[in-house]
Amino acid sequence: MMNKYYMPTRVIMGNDCIAMNSELFITLGKKALIVTGAQSAKRNGAEKDVRTALESVGIPYLVFDKVMSNPTIACVYEGATFAKENRADFIIAIGGGSPMDAGKAIALLASQDIMEGSLFSGNYEKKVLPMAFVPTTAGTGSEVTQYSILTNNKAQTKTSIASDLLFPTIAFLDAKYTEHLGIITTIYTTIDALSHAVEGMLSARASIVSDALAVTSIQMIINCVPDMLQALKSGSKVVFNMKQREQLLQASFLAGMVIAQTGTTAVHSMGYSLTYFKNIEHGRANGLLLGEYLKLVEKVQPDLAGRILETMNFSEAEQFQELLNKLLGEKEEISSEEIRQYSKMAIQTKNIANCVVKPTEEDIITMFALSFTK
Ligand code: NAP
Ligand code: FE
Repeated sequence: MMNKYYMPTRVIMGNDCIAMNSELFITLGKKALIVTGAQSAKRNGAEKDVRTALESVGIPYLVFDKVMSNPTIACVYEGATFAKENRADFIIAIGGGSPMDAGKAIALLASQDIMEGSLFSGNYEKKVLPMAFVPTTAGTGSEVTQYSILTNNKAQTKTSIASDLLFPTIAFLDAKYTEHLGIITTIYTTIDALSHAVEGMLSARASIVSDALAVTSIQMIINCVPDMLQALKSGSKVVFNMKQREQLLQASFLAGMVIAQTGTTAVHSMGYSLTYFKNIEHGRANGLLLGEYLKLVEKVQPDLAGRILETMNFSEAEQFQELLNKLLGEKEEISSEEIRQYSKMAIQTKNIANCVVKPTEEDIITMFALSFTK
């Protein structure tokens, strides 16, 4: 089996890393478009730090702060039009996976004309605006992946633009922006990162590099879990010290590097329907499904599941399921009609072909049903 490793993003980590590297923005272009969500980047200080850095090196900028969670195709076309009208020649995305994914699509669409019907085709001219990314959640790893995942109403799911053009040029990882993330968003985004690392190890494209990154990421996340559970129990709003926030951000970044090599598996493809139709947050959706998929792998390839479980200090997948149940709390209702519909969609995705243990449609139906059993 042939393996490849490619991750061209320059990653800079640490406290005040934006201010201390502001001259790097000069290498990206002459006018920036800052892409963010409505509020959080203003509240957590990331947008201010970026503005200050740009001003310190004399780069003018505009702000497009209309990115919603699970960004739509319309949103990224609007952002690209805004970038072109204002002649922005590079993108700075600040936020969780949503603004980062939108930032990638905007960088692509502002550099070339792509009709909506060809947006997910992968056939693009080899040009894109340079991008600097500032993650403010610790979950998606989008700052080091080549994926932009958009809400696709025509296909009634979330669809990924996947192209090496979309690797950000630079990622700035400063955990202070994640300091005030609430416990629920912290848990869901952490589970997304955990899911990336675990799914990476379950991918047909797993390699020595991706497994090494995944194992470290899983261990770092599991180290933080007892404090998460404690915070949930005590109802505390703010949870972690900076050291733990840094660990989670780094674990998410490592897990992003994993899926950049391996792609995701059945869990993500099944989860997209939960987000699209039931409005369940991306990380929560993965968390609801991950335990059942690992149980299926445990049945078919016990050694593979065992390697992952061992990394988490578990001896069987049921223990992992119990941990996820604690983190996720009460589960939503799902009807058998919904399960049939979502399973039909999931089985057709390329994520299924990417699984070492390929579930059948019947397996997917069973996993959905068991995942929502209370
Ligand atoms: P998100 O949708 O980016 O953000 C969720 C919420 O958290 C928003 O309300 C946001 O507010 C808020 N928020 C962000 N940073 C915050 C902070 N530091 N403090 C307080 N609140 C903050 O959530 P996400 O889980 O990070 O990203 C999910 C998206 O990423 C999905 O669309 C998913 O499909 C995608 N994803 C992409 C990849 C990839 O490789 N590209 C991988 C996995 C997932 P504002 O709206 O005000 O900013
Ligand atoms: Fe994800």
